[in-house]
Amino acid sequence: MAECLFCRIIRRELPAEIVYEDDHCLAFRDINPQAPVHILVVPKLHLESMLDLEHHPELAGFLGVSLVNVAREQGLVTNGFRVITNIGDWGGQVIKHLHFHVLGGRQLGNTLG
Ligand code: AMP
Ligand code: ZN
Repeated sequence: MAECLFCRIIRRELPAEIVYEDDHCLAFRDINPQAPVHILVVPKLHLESMLDLEHHPELAGFLGVSLVNVAREQGLVTNGFRVITNIGDWGGQVIKHLHFHVLGGRQLGNTLG
């Protein structure tokens, strides 16, 4: 996906504050953080949303491990944190490249929609 913003970050064509990388994913700071720690974890493979993980079950597992690694590295595990993925327009998904928001560093509110 040549024009996809997150694919361009993955290819290092656009700047981002990268905090974690492994074989399957990249993690970087959200440009508009909603919490003291707000990281986006994205698969290197361009998938539009979590719906596409149906066809990549092994990647779903790897992403789960990556999310835990990022949370641990960011010091979020002891106090707790939140992982969110928005799906489609009504889910509030703006960037159509699968990404997981990792939010933490303060007490989060009950804002599930
Ligand atoms: P979503 O609404 O789930 O699609 O979230 C997209 C997120 O990407 C938002 O939280 C944006 O602040 C974030 N974002 C947009 N552009 C960039 C960028 N260039 N670098 C880092 N985060 C970005
Ligand atoms: Zn992409």
